[in-house]
Amino acid sequence: MRSAAEIAAVCEEIVLDVGLSCVLRHRAESGKKAIGFLPIYAPREVVEAAGMLSVGVLGGGDQIEIIRGDAYFQSYICQLPRSVIEMGLSGKLDALDGMLFPAICDVIRNLSGMWQLLFPNKYVRYIDVPHNHDWEVGGKFYVHDLRELGRGLAGVSGVTPSDDRLREAIALHNENRRLLRALYDLRARAPHLVPTAEAYVVVRAGYQLPVEEHSAIVREYLEAARVSGRAPLDQSRVVLVGSFCEQPPLGLLKTLERAGCYIVDDDLVLGARFLRGDVDETGDPWEALARAYIAHGSHTSSRYVAGEQKGEYLIDLCKKRKAEGVVFCAPSFCDPALLEQPMLQTALEAANVQHTSFRYSENTAQFQAIHEQAGTFSDSIRLWSEDQ
Ligand code: SF4
Repeated sequence: MRSAAEIAAVCEEIVLDVGLSCVLRHRAESGKKAIGFLPIYAPREVVEAAGMLSVGVLGGGDQIEIIRGDAYFQSYICQLPRSVIEMGLSGKLDALDGMLFPAICDVIRNLSGMWQLLFPNKYVRYIDVPHNHDWEVGGKFYVHDLRELGRGLAGVSGVTPSDDRLREAIALHNENRRLLRALYDLRARAPHLVPTAEAYVVVRAGYQLPVEEHSAIVREYLEAARVSGRAPLDQSRVVLVGSFCEQPPLGLLKTLERAGCYIVDDDLVLGARFLRGDVDETGDPWEALARAYIAHGSHTSSRYVAGEQKGEYLIDLCKKRKAEGVVFCAPSFCDPALLEQPMLQTALEAANVQHTSFRYSENTAQFQAIHEQAGTFSDSIRLWSEDQ
């Protein structure tokens, strides 16, 4: 049996491989085509029901040097679109036969237009997820959009995503989502058994693997982590908020933990866990996907949710995870994350939950200042708790 660290090391190798070797291997073995998707959430089940591999593209991290990507965007936006353009232009995404651009922000919307111009022979689709959660309005609109997506994908693969094929894909992803929930639950119960740097790569590896293969890895990691015998440390428990799209470098996550913070929940690789409940495996599968998005979609900056619900959701999450503080950790210039942050901070202050914030970009290389800030935050939480 492999140890948790050994499994995480294999996943880390997959995650850091921006040339998509796993996808190339799968293509060669199965003869299937592959479709990429940008953050946050895309209905991967539809891609897989159309007989293709769905591949999450989360940017180039600190693995690629951006040369041409900078020419396409102004300097005051986040890093992710530049690195994605660089990956596309340098052939690193050649394994993909198309790309989905889910509605998340103006940057991704613009990127989808650029992609159409830069790669006219590839399938490109902007996915306009519903922001009106009334079933008669947003629900029916999304069912129509999903069916349209299915028809477009069938044109790429030659495989029609029938209802039965879609139900089968939904069942496989439900299983995967249950395993990821179990991973997050275990980390919250015993964070010393599941370091976030490991959980992160284990979850993210699923963006490059067939879902069954990934579920087997998560299951194996869970078993190995439970018996790892790792000892608990005197660390504070925090929730990480804001990293739902461009991902922080792995070194930053390790820095937070070394600075004394156990991360007991986060919004990293959020697309993999975007639906917080199962999708109905009976009935009309297109409607089931749409209903799950509306009923169980995550509360995150790029998804409209009326009223004060997002603040309440974060406070409830802190209570559920027994978190002592919140770390706002967002990419520089990320409009959705940074616009919402003050509203969430106000809600936390009203609930007497401590918080701190800093920004990063996917290629941030210096972590000393973050180490000091996170360490001070962790210390202050523990001192504060002792005063209570
Ligand atoms: S990091 Fe933020 S601003 Fe940049 S593409 Fe993602 S959601 Fe949009």
